[in-house]
Amino acid sequence: MNNSLIIYNSLSRKKEEFKPINPPFVGLYVCGPTVYGDAHLGHARPAITFDLLFRYFKHLDFKVRYVRNITDVGHLENDADSGEDKIGKKARLEQLEPMEIVQFYTDRYHREMDKLNVQKPSIEPRASGHIIEQIELTKKILANGFAYESNGSVYFDVEEYNKKYNYGRLSGRVLEDLYSNTRDLDGQSEKKNSFDFALWKKASPEHIMRWASPWSDGFPGWHVECSAMGHKYLGDEFDIHGGGMDLLFPHHECEIAQNTAAIGENTVKYWVHNNMITINGQKMGKSLGNFITLEDLFNGTNAVLEKAYSPMTIRFFILQAHYRSTLDFSNEALQAAEKGLARLLKAFDTLDKIKSSATGKFDASELKNKCYAAMSDDLNSPILIAHLFDALRVINNIEVGNETIDEENLTILQETFNLFMFDILGLQKEDQASSANDEVLSGVVDLVLNLRLQAKTNKDYATSDFIRDELTKIGVTVKDKKDGFDWEI
Ligand code: ZN
Repeated sequence: MNNSLIIYNSLSRKKEEFKPINPPFVGLYVCGPTVYGDAHLGHARPAITFDLLFRYFKHLDFKVRYVRNITDVGHLENDADSGEDKIGKKARLEQLEPMEIVQFYTDRYHREMDKLNVQKPSIEPRASGHIIEQIELTKKILANGFAYESNGSVYFDVEEYNKKYNYGRLSGRVLEDLYSNTRDLDGQSEKKNSFDFALWKKASPEHIMRWASPWSDGFPGWHVECSAMGHKYLGDEFDIHGGGMDLLFPHHECEIAQNTAAIGENTVKYWVHNNMITINGQKMGKSLGNFITLEDLFNGTNAVLEKAYSPMTIRFFILQAHYRSTLDFSNEALQAAEKGLARLLKAFDTLDKIKSSATGKFDASELKNKCYAAMSDDLNSPILIAHLFDALRVINNIEVGNETIDEENLTILQETFNLFMFDILGLQKEDQASSANDEVLSGVVDLVLNLRLQAKTNKDYATSDFIRDELTKIGVTVKDKKDGFDWEI
């Protein structure tokens, strides 16, 4: 097996061969959700991207410690250093404990991730459970001279840091540009520069979530949590830090600065970012009226949607694009994905039925190598899927007798399909529960229509018409045929 992996590193801005710091162990940290609302499309893409990476690493026999955090404190509105805490605000509006909000939406997030067949991380730490670690990290940065206390809050001193290190390594932003691009805003006057960011914030009297610290009763800044938890669970240096491209600046840039100021340079070897999702070409946003939760998608309950889309359709659709490309959601594209997935699943079933011949031309090892090559090239799932579609054509040709395959190659073909479709891409067959429901439903409709047929035979047209009209009302169209009936929903 070829277990090399080339991955694009956002830090070096090029593809690099993945070499773990301490093989066979791999440390992977991914920024998880801020749990103050339902999981939406924007949550699905990073979860599926890093699930693909997690699954592939495990397949390559690496021992992966995958840490994906839950942000439950310190993430203020507009990702800024001022404004209300997102969870605190929801708790205030709904008159609940902040931790009730956190529990409720964390449970719902898990439920949606299970539906998408996203495997659970090894550790899922919460920011509020790591206040001590965040305070300790802040103390170190202060002691090293890269932060200052101001009115009970502690801010990272970007200018001081930039004298020794390079602020902007990841995003390519230059401090000179930040000077000219930022203006002093209200409430930022306790900072030396508007681009300095909070490590600790003093809580206002009405702020609910607060902890004691050497500086004030308050709460940690958003960026500190990931530095603190990554360091706690993965050590001074670890392999991969991932997240959505929207987190690259300022969140990850600030994380690098904090790590460097407290722990040392090069704490993270590879930075990996998935690109964003647009809807009909537009950015998704509550204010734009095109905000789609995963629950909406699975139920079809959103004006943007023509119908419901199964979790596997969403998963397949996301995997049909490379994770570093933008991905546009539209009904047409989702319906195409739905059909494509159904064809692949059908081909897999056909694979079980086709018979091998004494000789055959098809070389399944070549297909297998191509699938590995696609995955090893920066997780190129669209190319991998294209290879599976090539195999689908071969399977269909063999089924109708236009092509032959020998026994050895048939076994390899089945193994390859199984491995890449289900284990690595993480696709699943249609939900068994829902197909069982479909079976019951179609049995009941057939039963009712047979009763109608009997009524017709007995010339009881009133009953026959009643049954047809009532079925039409609930959405079942009945078509009479010479030899019986046909129906559709
Ligand atoms: Zn983070």
